[in-house]
Amino acid sequence: MNVHEYRAKELLKSFHISVPFGVCIEENTPSAIAAVLKAFKDRPKVAVKAQIHAGGRGKGHFKENGTSGVRLVETEYAAEVVADMFGKTLVTNQTGSDGKVVHKVYVTETVAVAREFYLSLLIDRDRQCPVLMASDSGGCDVETVAKESPEKVLTFPVDPLSGLQPFQARRVAYLLQLSGEAFKECVDLVLNLYRAFVASDACLIEINPLVLTKEGHLSALDCKMQLDDNARFRHDNFASFDDPNEVDPTEAEAKSVGIHNYVALDGDIACLANGAGLGMATLDLLDALGGKAANFLDIGDTASAEQIEAGFRILLKHPKTRGVFVNIFGGTLPCDRVAQGLISAAETVVLRVPCVMRLMGNRKNEGFTLLQRSGLSVFATEDLTQAVETIVRETKAAL
Ligand code: GDP
Ligand code: MN
Repeated sequence: MNVHEYRAKELLKSFHISVPFGVCIEENTPSAIAAVLKAFKDRPKVAVKAQIHAGGRGKGHFKENGTSGVRLVETEYAAEVVADMFGKTLVTNQTGSDGKVVHKVYVTETVAVAREFYLSLLIDRDRQCPVLMASDSGGCDVETVAKESPEKVLTFPVDPLSGLQPFQARRVAYLLQLSGEAFKECVDLVLNLYRAFVASDACLIEINPLVLTKEGHLSALDCKMQLDDNARFRHDNFASFDDPNEVDPTEAEAKSVGIHNYVALDGDIACLANGAGLGMATLDLLDALGGKAANFLDIGDTASAEQIEAGFRILLKHPKTRGVFVNIFGGTLPCDRVAQGLISAAETVVLRVPCVMRLMGNRKNEGFTLLQRSGLSVFATEDLTQAVETIVRETKAAL
């Protein structure tokens, strides 16, 4: 789960990491904007920052007028700039060409920057542990720095059992060539960042830039944070980080009927399987035989008839869907329940695209019979390869 910058910074602050003072504006009305800007009236300048789940805002541009998603402006003009960002579409190197619509705007104090650094913690799946990355070339794209001058990026794994050690935090402070008070601040900040990372079940916390102010203090000017959705059950506050504007609407609809494994992809064949392993194998086979999946929907082994029906409705409604492919290995979940789910969904949503069902295992024959009697034009078989070949061919033919 991605977290907005303003919420990520609140979390950093609760772990004693210094961030610029800021307030997020969630409503585009003159009074809401004025109320927030009151807090900045004694400051000559403020930073106005579009809140979207993507980085690169400073170098990005709004489709409507070409301005950037992070602007340092004189406080007297801030209200206009804030109002102007609402509802506009920001395109950055991380949003894709469609961009993202801005629904929240964050106003912060400006900071006099002496130097900009990069600091992040992330889970490295290959090494199976957190990894810390730091660089004294902050502000810019760290991937580019890492590629062009890898010696500028300090990377080290952290033992999850012993945690991040003070000597490792000092290595970061040496790398950034800090001294005196700022050196101590850096050591504390790195240790606190690790505490925040573990306590929040984060997958990524990236501070870019972390700055040394002209007054000689460290401050986290920007923060990108991803929290592990699988840890939701032990964090009451996770729900408060959700922003319905940032969630794929189909994914949200799937969640609302209790289907938690729906992932939108960018192909055109909608896929439904029971079990994540079977689902992934289905995607692989589709890909190998020339098809492209529009999504991944795992109904699991306990789905009710209503959930299956809702799952099909979601797949059929999706504008990108040009074919529907179902792969069921019937066990606890009988094949005929899945067949009935499609039949029920087709009563309210038109089956306007080719549909292939591969049914194998528990009550497969009952499933085939139901489909035959329904009069729906569904190709059903127990042969997986034949099923995939058929949906790929029919989807292409229907184009
Ligand atoms: P991003 O482009 O989405 O990563 O957004 P950032 O929050 O990192 O802002 C982009 C850039 O704007 C930063 O890298 C800074 O260089 C600059 N910036 C943001 N806030 C301030 C500020 O208060 N003072 C100064 N001098 N620069 C700032
Ligand atoms: Mn940034």
